[in-house]
Amino acid sequence: MSERIYLSSPHMGGMELEYINEAFDTNWISPVGPNIDHFEQDISKYMSGIHVAALSSGTAAIHLALIILGVERGDEVICSSFTFAGSCNPIAYMGAVPVFVDSERETWNMDPELLKEAIEDRIKKGKKPKAIIVVHLYGMPAKLDEIIQIGKKYEIPLIEDAAEAFGAEYKGRKAGTFGDISVLSFNGNKIITTSGGGAFLSANNTYVEKAKFLSTQARDHAPHYEHSQIGYNYRMSNISAGIGRGQMEVLDERVRQRRSIFKFYEEKFSGLSGIEFLREPAGHFSNRWLTTALVDKHLLGVDREDIRIGLEKYNIETRPLWKPMHIQPVFKEAPAYTNGTSEELFNRGICLPSGSNLTTSDKERIMNKLTGLFKVTI
Ligand SMILES: *Cc1c(COP(=O)(O)O)cnc(C)c1O
Repeated sequence: MSERIYLSSPHMGGMELEYINEAFDTNWISPVGPNIDHFEQDISKYMSGIHVAALSSGTAAIHLALIILGVERGDEVICSSFTFAGSCNPIAYMGAVPVFVDSERETWNMDPELLKEAIEDRIKKGKKPKAIIVVHLYGMPAKLDEIIQIGKKYEIPLIEDAAEAFGAEYKGRKAGTFGDISVLSFNGNKIITTSGGGAFLSANNTYVEKAKFLSTQARDHAPHYEHSQIGYNYRMSNISAGIGRGQMEVLDERVRQRRSIFKFYEEKFSGLSGIEFLREPAGHFSNRWLTTALVDKHLLGVDREDIRIGLEKYNIETRPLWKPMHIQPVFKEAPAYTNGTSEELFNRGICLPSGSNLTTSDKERIMNKLTGLFKVTI
């Protein structure tokens, strides 16, 4: 059996071990230490000075964002339906209710028209949503101007889930700098990783200080352990942050590599009408975290499951697009504003191997096996 080709695997830059060794040499084996400070500064510099708290995961960052924005039990929070469960599980941790909004076709992210409709309908039903969680799926920025404007109009704060979009840009500005609070993830499959980790970002330093406080068990200022509110153990460790420091040095290179993989697939399939790629609308710069394709069974003779199973036989990992949250069993009671887009994307879409560490021979192997599966020749 040939070696497995993964969808997206960790890709170290080279300096990570040195920063980890530094932590060992100075005995900062803890959720405090110089790597954490450095990593936060590196992210801040990359994101034009935004304030940063490094946390144990992106999901933890979303959870703290909801707490800090004052979401309470029984409140409603709007969230993109087409996403990974980490975006909306924290709404349930709060005892709040997710309200899902479907996607538009141009970026596959939250449809601003439907968002407006959802807000007006929730208000009519007597409950104004407490926050909006907008996701930049697969690294493609959402229609931020429209969404921000709607949030402002109804005075609902925006949480920007940029977990998949580190390095992406909207109108020349980094994704992850648009929300009242924004979130990154450094899970093992993301464009850069700390093995597991996340970040809470905001232009509002009070929010970020609050996130650091809550993420370290909400300890009041006293010589003993004094607590006047519930805290969490959500801080990033100084070891993980060492990996993060090394990864920040290669982030832009990783964006270039991921974009070049996308381009590779797009060019190879340019003459084939049964495979469709997501274009970048003007002003949207995707990090192309994962290359995604929509498969047309009528034109290709195979559907996305035929392709997934077919490639799996050759030890090549692919994955269907995210299954929308509004059709997940666990969220079946949640209100949803839908237009059929995300369900169609889920039914037809596949994520192709997109790791920045794919070799030329990996790519050849993928192309050979892929084209062998199609019932048409290219
Ligand atoms: C990965 C991811 C998260 C959660 O991040 P973790 O660090 O894995 O907790 C949230 N939202 C989206 C869209 C993600 O892809």
